[in-house]
Amino acid sequence: MLETAFAALGTTNHVSIDAFTDRIAAGEALMRARERVLFLHDRLSVFQPESELSLLNASAGCASVPVGNDAFFLLRESKRYSALSGGAFSITTRALSALWEIHARCGTVPSRAEVEHALLLVNDEDVALDDDAQTAELRRFGQSVDLGAIAKGYAADEVRRILIEGGVTGALINLGGTVSVIGEGKHVGIQHPDRMTGIPMGRVLLSDGCAVTSGDYERYYEVDGTRYHHILDPRTGYPSRSDLRSVTLIGESALALDALSTAVFVLGAEQGLPLIQQAGCEAVFVTKNLDVFCTEGLRGNFELL
Ligand code: AMP
Ligand code: MG
Repeated sequence: MLETAFAALGTTNHVSIDAFTDRIAAGEALMRARERVLFLHDRLSVFQPESELSLLNASAGCASVPVGNDAFFLLRESKRYSALSGGAFSITTRALSALWEIHARCGTVPSRAEVEHALLLVNDEDVALDDDAQTAELRRFGQSVDLGAIAKGYAADEVRRILIEGGVTGALINLGGTVSVIGEGKHVGIQHPDRMTGIPMGRVLLSDGCAVTSGDYERYYEVDGTRYHHILDPRTGYPSRSDLRSVTLIGESALALDALSTAVFVLGAEQGLPLIQQAGCEAVFVTKNLDVFCTEGLRGNFELL
């Protein structure tokens, strides 16, 4: 077994390899994969003051900035998923997230006026991309974006690609709950929303595929018994209040699943289902009442614990 654990993209990342054609090549691929994730963190994190995304945000409303291949690709994909989800997925929620983060630190709730003000800045159509120059611009002063809802999925796909190129035939990639499996079946837990991290309420047997979850228990704070979590509804400016505690999507592209799981979590099971069907992936829903249900294609692979 070859493995590595490291911090990046705001989470702890674990990659373990249990089957390969050549041990040395697999070890080198593992190091390359880790470097790749750290590189993406440096370029894409809005918490890194010098990252491409931070420079884009700092230039909002006044200038376009050159961005690298990864950021450009992810900005374009984000706009696509935003349009596809009718705006439920919107990277321009950053202005709102920043507001909620300040209040989370103080243990307070923003006023409706503060929320309304930040909400005016949410519209992914204002992310202007120039293909020829490979530059990006946020059209309005004060706007900002973050790729927190899609970057881990992309990073997981990149780790997978690098490991496979290095002759790896069996691996478990887990970037803070964004999971990708190479090779034979491995069990992936569906986290219980009210129990300690690592305590599952069900599990899925995953072979050569990915599983990505969005849930209200991943990051939140409470004021007077109300939970304020980190996934914002771009229609209201408040943490989303659908019928879901979590949704886990299973399919081939972690990037697609990451974007869609965030969108479906915002939209709720009923409105989210067409997106899931259109993308050809499967889903496990955990509802507010802690009922668990899954799509047809998972029957036989999903087990309630
Ligand atoms: P995820 O855990 O993949 O659902 O992504 C949640 C993260 O994405 C949050 O921590 C925010 O940084 C950002 N975010 C919050 N709400 C949205 C939204 N509606 N669309 C896109 N990104 C969001
Ligand atoms: Mg996501």
